[in-house]
Amino acid sequence: MRKTIIAGNWKMYKNIAEAIELANGIKRELFNLGDERIDTVLCPPFTALRDVSEVISESNILLGAQDVYWEEEGAFTGEVSPGMLKDTGCSFIIIGHSERRQHFSETNTTVNKKLKAVLRNGLTPIVCIGETLSQREEDKTFQVLEDHVLNGLDGILEEEASKIIIAYEPVWAIGTGKTATPQEAQSAHAYIRGLLKKMFNTDISESIRIQYGGSVKPDNIVELMKQRDIDGALVGGASLKIESFSQIVKKACEVSK
Ligand code: PEP
Repeated sequence: MRKTIIAGNWKMYKNIAEAIELANGIKRELFNLGDERIDTVLCPPFTALRDVSEVISESNILLGAQDVYWEEEGAFTGEVSPGMLKDTGCSFIIIGHSERRQHFSETNTTVNKKLKAVLRNGLTPIVCIGETLSQREEDKTFQVLEDHVLNGLDGILEEEASKIIIAYEPVWAIGTGKTATPQEAQSAHAYIRGLLKKMFNTDISESIRIQYGGSVKPDNIVELMKQRDIDGALVGGASLKIESFSQIVKKACEVSK
């Protein structure tokens, strides 16, 4: 079946010393957790990638970045390529997070370019999709998901598709303390899986992992994880503390399918 994946998105928090401390603490808490049932991924800011990579090198914890540019190299001041991220030890890359769509004009077109570049470099993309509050209130959730999936994943070949991870993150639930109910999340995840089935085929859609993101905490992870189509979580705020992130990983592992 699909292996559970819990990823911590540290956003623009933690200097190098703080990042090392947090990574060390999480490593200590999770030291006896095998990697057969769960992938645990830390996504610190770019500046701390190398140091966090060293901290987790002797553990089952994996490294991810929060963004990437789609070119391999060149005159693109301020940008970082997939190869450069790989060089720091990253194996996962978050693409199209709603904060990037909202504040940095990311679109499905840029998401698609980043996705192809990440796959070309043998890295695992975590593609974020999800509706805003007004879109949900206008009953446009499924329409938005369809737009994000069909256009974000446009031109992806069947053999690449199962490497993709989708993170369903309703924008109204990110950093707000408001979580989608397990039923609301499951309904969106099932819809996304249906779209993937139409785009690819049943085997591929059943193999693609779909994480939920939006105010995930130790006290709501279990009910979310019990849903058929929820394969893990992308965690923001609660990933910034050793205790809460480790609890989420341990609890998700206990109920992993
Ligand atoms: C996120 O940053 O992807 C996220 C889901 O944040 P939070 O858990 O704080 O809602």
